[in-house]
Amino acid sequence: MNKRRVRACQLCGAVRLSTVDHVIPKGFYPKSSTARRITIKACETCNGGASDDDAHFRLVMSLAGEGRSAVNEVWRTKISRSLRKEDGMRRVRDLRPILRAAADLPGRYRIYPAEDPRVITSLQKVIRGLNAYHGDKSYPGNERVWGDIWRGDMPEEFFDLAAYHHADPEVADYFFVTFRDHIPVRSLWVVRFFGRTLTVGAIFSTSEHRRGINRLDDVWRLMGFDPDDVRHAGNGTSERLG
Ligand SMILES: [Zn+2]
Repeated sequence: MNKRRVRACQLCGAVRLSTVDHVIPKGFYPKSSTARRITIKACETCNGGASDDDAHFRLVMSLAGEGRSAVNEVWRTKISRSLRKEDGMRRVRDLRPILRAAADLPGRYRIYPAEDPRVITSLQKVIRGLNAYHGDKSYPGNERVWGDIWRGDMPEEFFDLAAYHHADPEVADYFFVTFRDHIPVRSLWVVRFFGRTLTVGAIFSTSEHRRGINRLDDVWRLMGFDPDDVRHAGNGTSERLG
């Protein structure tokens, strides 16, 4: 099992009882995935109680978009098992607020992950975990982290600047850029789940900079760019990730 040891937590910096924490929740990986898991050391305060949110996050991300082999395997095994447990119905009910009937496809629903605060909290934790994994020791809490579902307005230049990494391309892969100068934005992130659902995030130097950020356009403005110029600078499409 997970060994507890007193050491510095990579999410908050406190020296406490910590365990090995999976940055991309363990349950996202199908059994067949042999990719090396991305892990950090996290204290129980930072890590504690996340497993219910992780299961919800996985369910939402697995429903968004069209099926792929990794997500299908996770559905066949881990997700269906989790839904058969006694809290399975509650998990399904939790989805109601972010499901809407698809007008063009009778009897089908669309899912809107960005409208679910728990999904955003889970995304913030993934971004903080990746940030720690890549060596940033500024320990941003959620008050310094913004995250959203991608809405397709990232300039192509971002991907030229960004470093590409993955946990397993079918499970989660990501691009990020860190800014060394003292600007309000420390780093920008694009994380794709199950090879299809794109998310975007930013880590700010202070919580004051984070305040008032609701969309990616607000991030560009804070960095001193006109969002329209950014959009027209390149056709930042998701195909670039593929
Ligand atoms: Zn901690």
